[in-house]
Amino acid sequence: MRVLALDNFITGAAKNLSSLQDNPDFEFRQADVNHGVFIGGDARYVLHFASPASPPQYDSNPIHTLKVGTLGTTNMLGLARAKGATFLLASTSEVYGDPLVHPQPETYWGNVNPIGPRGCYDEAKRCAEAFAMAYHRSHDVDTRIIRIFNTHGPRMQVSDGRAVPNFMAQAIRGEPLTVYGDGSQTRSLCYVSDLVSGVLAVLERGDELPINLGNPQEVTVLELAETIIRLAGSSSTIDFRDLPVDDPKQRRPDIARAQKLLGWQPKVSLEDGLRRTLEYFRSVV
Ligand code: UDP
Repeated sequence: MRVLALDNFITGAAKNLSSLQDNPDFEFRQADVNHGVFIGGDARYVLHFASPASPPQYDSNPIHTLKVGTLGTTNMLGLARAKGATFLLASTSEVYGDPLVHPQPETYWGNVNPIGPRGCYDEAKRCAEAFAMAYHRSHDVDTRIIRIFNTHGPRMQVSDGRAVPNFMAQAIRGEPLTVYGDGSQTRSLCYVSDLVSGVLAVLERGDELPINLGNPQEVTVLELAETIIRLAGSSSTIDFRDLPVDDPKQRRPDIARAQKLLGWQPKVSLEDGLRRTLEYFRSVV
């Protein structure tokens, strides 16, 4: 299968693609999906992953984030429709907002503040899901919606701003780890190889309804910081900072649907995944 990748590099980087440069089945074009994309030939799949995904990054690009979730999504759905391709939307656990149901099943409608700093991302992704369902129902496009929970792995930007890159860079440099709030809020972290196998399983065996992809192993943010300090063999301390507005207090995927429909579940434990990501950060920090 041949792959055409599009990125405007708002948060990505060309060097992340260097290992694919000489692959004859891989082609890259710098493009912004908000402006429409026209390609010749056939396409079997259209995978729409475009969007800033880190809270500080979407907070500093709110209009672009709203556009890529709405206009960008309709452009990619239009492309899939024109090509008769299967469309996959990379949605997010942020559609659940600051969840009042725990763990979060796909049937939960969420608790989102539309006008807060996370609204540009959360509402854009919720709108994107509505568009995917509308193209499925009105135009019979074969669509998939995955709700991706916190994921980490090699080639995340050092300046990404999310917990794993921040904590790893800080631990490697021997700087204090910036824990927001008292660190009692929880997250559940998935290693990237597990996410990728989940994406492929959804393309092959999924249906049009949303499906959670993530690792249900839940930790507090303070535990995450302490684990990274230990795995890095670092002498860093913890520096408690203000909690950002609307920061979800708890997050853990209910993956029963993915287990049943796809036979998928993560294989890499939290610590093994963090070790692998740490190895990458050691090479770039
Ligand atoms: N966080 C933190 N210190 C940091 C970055 C993030 O304590 O330097 C916290 C953040 O407040 C949140 C959790 O870690 O409670 C996960 O944040 P992240 O930005 O990774 O993603 P989110 O799950 O909020 O989208």
